[in-house]
Amino acid sequence: MDTMYDVVIVGGGAAGLSGALTLGRARRRVLVVDAGRPRNAPAEGVHTYLGREGLSPLELLAAGREEVAGYGGEVVTGTVETAERLEDGGFRVVLDDGSEVRAARLLVTTGLVDELPDVPGLAELWGKDVLHCPYCHGWEVRDQAIGVLGTGPLSVHQALLWRQWSEGVTLFLHTAPELDADQREQLAARGVTVVAEKVTGLETAGGRLSGVRLADGHVVPCRALAVGTRLTARGGLLAGLGVETEDVEMGGHVIGTRVPADPSGATSVPGVWVAGNVTSLVEQVIGSAAAGVRAGAAINADLIAEETRRAVAARAAAA
Ligand SMILES: Cc1cc2nc3c(=O)[nH]c(=O)nc-3n(C[C@H](O)[C@H](O)[C@H](O)COP(=O)(O)OP(=O)(O)OC[C@H]3O[C@@H](n4cnc5c(N)ncnc54)[C@H](O)[C@@H]3O)c2cc1C
Repeated sequence: MDTMYDVVIVGGGAAGLSGALTLGRARRRVLVVDAGRPRNAPAEGVHTYLGREGLSPLELLAAGREEVAGYGGEVVTGTVETAERLEDGGFRVVLDDGSEVRAARLLVTTGLVDELPDVPGLAELWGKDVLHCPYCHGWEVRDQAIGVLGTGPLSVHQALLWRQWSEGVTLFLHTAPELDADQREQLAARGVTVVAEKVTGLETAGGRLSGVRLADGHVVPCRALAVGTRLTARGGLLAGLGVETEDVEMGGHVIGTRVPADPSGATSVPGVWVAGNVTSLVEQVIGSAAAGVRAGAAINADLIAEETRRAVAARAAAA
């Protein structure tokens, strides 16, 4: 592995590879280090990605890796363990195999962690029959019995949203707050069944979700269960560089954490950019890819500005 790059990109999902494609086409020396576990890996297909509708998540990224390589970008499978600032303003990046590389700029696209509700059997079905986003999975479970697991104040909103895809929606209040009269009226008017009993587990048949088990032992048949996950930015690597995460609120409720950045992805620390789910929790694949392109272009502009400053100084010194 060459040890000096214009840009090292940590994370090779949609955001990281799109940043690498932009930088490779801008004739920059770019290295992507990717642990190979994109957030949507458990899903069968990527939906609402124009031109590649339904392609498997790993196939989409494999095609992206090839495209990056076509412009001279390097992609390696591995995990970045630490990144530190060097005296010359660049960065030293250490991988889990002990190798080190240096870069003038860093783009961190490490995504987020979905922290799942603690219900037995739920994690095993995550991304298959336990779902978080109707735009990603709603069409596939249209007209079927869909449960919504209430875990916070946004659960009513979630149940009304999923109702767009099926008339058979059940809201399990589980650990969600008590409903007020308006919420009960809205759910009743839209034909959403409300179950107050706590959920204790999931039932499966042939490895697929068949029902939701309640504390009283009763099982409500369900083909899909929508859940709200806590969305935690994978930003640990950045803490050592002085970039902290911040809470993200939706409807007055903390839904997770993000790495703050400006619209180009620039963080508060010079030379460090972020893109995709690590900074924008609700971004889908196409939005994450677009953010990677924006960050790539911004980094290239930043490098051009530095190179121009140096060229002017060198010219003045030579005069
Ligand atoms: C179950 C599920 C299904 C989904 N389905 C859809 C869908 O159909 N359509 C859609 O548009 N969106 C979908 N999404 C959302 C989609 O997954 C995200 O929008 C997208 O993955 C964000 O891209 P990203 O590049 O920011 O992060 P990711 O795709 O998560 O990529 C981050 C990459 O960084 C790597 N990484 C992390 N830390 C390190 C490290 N220290 N060193 C090296 N590499 C590291 C990871 O292994 C991973 O490969 C779905 C999400 C889930 C949970």
